[in-house]
Amino acid sequence: MSSTLAKPGKTMQALVLLEPHRFEIQEVPTPQPGPGEVLCRVRATAICGSDPKVIDGKIPGWPPGYPFIAGHEWAGQVVQLGEGVTGWKPGERVVGEPHKGCGSCRQCLTGNYNMCDNYGFPESGHRHYGFKSQGSYADYMVVSAKALHSLPDSIGYAEGTMVGSAGVALHGLRLAGVEPAATGLVIGPGAIGLCAIQLLKAMGATRVICVGRTGARLNMAREIGADDLVDSLTGTAVEQVLDLTGGRGVDISVETAAAEEGPTYAIKMTRLGGKIVLIGFFIPPERTIPMQAVVFKQLSLYGVKADPNSYDQVLSFVVAGKLALKPLISHVFPLREFAKALDTFVNRREGAMKVVIEAEG
Ligand SMILES: [Zn+2]
Ligand SMILES: [Zn+2]
Repeated sequence: MSSTLAKPGKTMQALVLLEPHRFEIQEVPTPQPGPGEVLCRVRATAICGSDPKVIDGKIPGWPPGYPFIAGHEWAGQVVQLGEGVTGWKPGERVVGEPHKGCGSCRQCLTGNYNMCDNYGFPESGHRHYGFKSQGSYADYMVVSAKALHSLPDSIGYAEGTMVGSAGVALHGLRLAGVEPAATGLVIGPGAIGLCAIQLLKAMGATRVICVGRTGARLNMAREIGADDLVDSLTGTAVEQVLDLTGGRGVDISVETAAAEEGPTYAIKMTRLGGKIVLIGFFIPPERTIPMQAVVFKQLSLYGVKADPNSYDQVLSFVVAGKLALKPLISHVFPLREFAKALDTFVNRREGAMKVVIEAEG
């Protein structure tokens, strides 16, 4: 389905970062698509856990300078094609990936464009939308045709913004591999964790335990398919998980919370020879983990960066009814209320889970 779009004006509204933790809505020039690029109307952008870090300038190089437009978990419509772009039509519904590699380095050629050797060098063709390249907190956005995926009609724009979160979980589980009838563990019932619970099941796990703080998020974990819930604050979480698995521990565990004890919990809660998927976005200071247990238990640890090669599979799981993204969206705000949206997300007001900015009109 495609709908007619108004021709974009010369200027558009955008949320512009001016310096660390200072931003305002400004009227800025509407970007023009270069060769291989597509101008898209942004219909919705979800606030990602990494956005507050970008907005506060907590990660060196994100953003590369000011003024800057952040935002990378978005869905929208094709408006205008740049030179040489084929396969897309104005009005088509799309979802975009944050990473676009240079396409010619060793990492890109082996499918690892999320770790492009030319990361941060736009002249190579590399883009990291919302981190290194202008993002989606705006009426329009220019994006490489290579980063676009068709958004099925049955998936709404707000829901479509969640494909990347699910893609991170899918990428991690695919790296590690989920064995048939596995017992899985997810630490952290946030957006990625709740996707991981559903994907573990969809990929063959028959039982999933979720560890988190008692409250709305842990209840949501139950609603979307977790079989057992363990309160991380009881002081006996490790013992509880071992009890639930006959003393063995789980086959595969997924840490999504970047919790202080998260990796250590995963190491203690996973069986001999098991797998640990590390997704949580840790920022320094570095944590220590029980290395002797990693070695003696012969554990495999998988670091997971972003969501490469995952969008079409995630969309298939959603269309097939194996992965529900809609329940994870707790709030929707217009762009002009971004400050309130950010506060709601960061401070988890009113049980905030995924907070989405939706275009008006
Ligand atoms: Zn994100
Ligand atoms: Zn590359």
